[in-house]
Amino acid sequence: MRELIHSNRMKANFHLIKKSLGMDWPRRKTKAVFIGGVQIGGGAPVVIQSMTKTDTRNVRATITQINRLTQTGCQIVRVGIPDEEAALALREIKREIALPLIADIHFQPRLALLALEYGVDGLRINPGTIGPRAKLKEIVGLAKERQVPIRIGVNAGSLEKELLAKYGQPTAEAMVESALRHIRLLEDMDFDLIKVSLKASDIARTVAAYRLLAQQVDYPFHAGITEAGPLLRGTIKSVAGLTLLLREGLVDTFRISLTAPPEEEVRVAQLLLASLGLGSFGPELISCPICSRCEVDLAQIVKKVEESLSGIRESITVAVMGCMVNGPGEAREADVGVACGRGVGVIFKKGRVLRKVKEEMIVTELLKEVQEFLRDRSDRRKKEK
Ligand code: SF4
Repeated sequence: MRELIHSNRMKANFHLIKKSLGMDWPRRKTKAVFIGGVQIGGGAPVVIQSMTKTDTRNVRATITQINRLTQTGCQIVRVGIPDEEAALALREIKREIALPLIADIHFQPRLALLALEYGVDGLRINPGTIGPRAKLKEIVGLAKERQVPIRIGVNAGSLEKELLAKYGQPTAEAMVESALRHIRLLEDMDFDLIKVSLKASDIARTVAAYRLLAQQVDYPFHAGITEAGPLLRGTIKSVAGLTLLLREGLVDTFRISLTAPPEEEVRVAQLLLASLGLGSFGPELISCPICSRCEVDLAQIVKKVEESLSGIRESITVAVMGCMVNGPGEAREADVGVACGRGVGVIFKKGRVLRKVKEEMIVTELLKEVQEFLRDRSDRRKKEK
């Protein structure tokens, strides 16, 4: 009971704080589409996507990477289909993965038809550039028959020549006009299982484009800052841009694009949503930045705790704090925490002090309490059913 009160109090506090800070962000109202069994838009929680970085023709490597993404918590995966051999690989890939699969295709209608034949759950094509109108009609007809949504992906770097001539450069307005053209093509074929993305490599244009398009259509948005860069740089840029979009309720699904393994894209996405209180994806680790008051090797302790927590999927808040001045407050608020002193750590659970342990035992003892917390909670939930 005590632990239930502790966790309910924490949740209530968090929601109150979010509300008082104006962080209770309403979502834009959109239609819903389904990629496999995953709902996008229509009020569903924000969905995390990634894209494989293997050669899709290398079926084994692609399946292995997708399965790793599944374990990391990715919800939808996209693969690039540059040629017919890659399209043919979809049949086996689709058979051996659990994640909904999107085929990303440019210019070649035959590849889109093959992808649909092999059971993909979503297509990313640009209707205006996929080939002659008759071919588009064939693709749209098959997508409709199979209830497969199409994402229109407008990229500032590949806008139509006449739009570049009209606007002088790839402005947000030009991107939106391009998206509307593609949307109308599908709507004229009585197709509305549509998602839209408007990507530029700078935040200002990306945000401006989504804001503009949101005033004109109610299709769900796939968001992201494209070509954001390597891990650290790309994370910061993506998080800055996506936070602005999330703040305005303009994100229904998103990918963090990084020059890094795709699992890192998913981890960053999860941490972003968790930090904003928009989702819970396994443990939350709170740790202090360390200052001269710290009298243990906190960086090592945090590193080991983080590694050990990475295998846990359940939500739990763990705090690792460096001193007895500011540490006990955070450690007490967490589900499990430690506040360190000179060569020791005081372990907390559910707001209570448990015991003092030597520095070399902090990680072991903390993780023991984490496991016990998860076991007790799971037992309690089973009993409540
Ligand atoms: Fe410094 Fe203590 Fe704050 Fe850590 S918790 S940064 S050691 S004052």
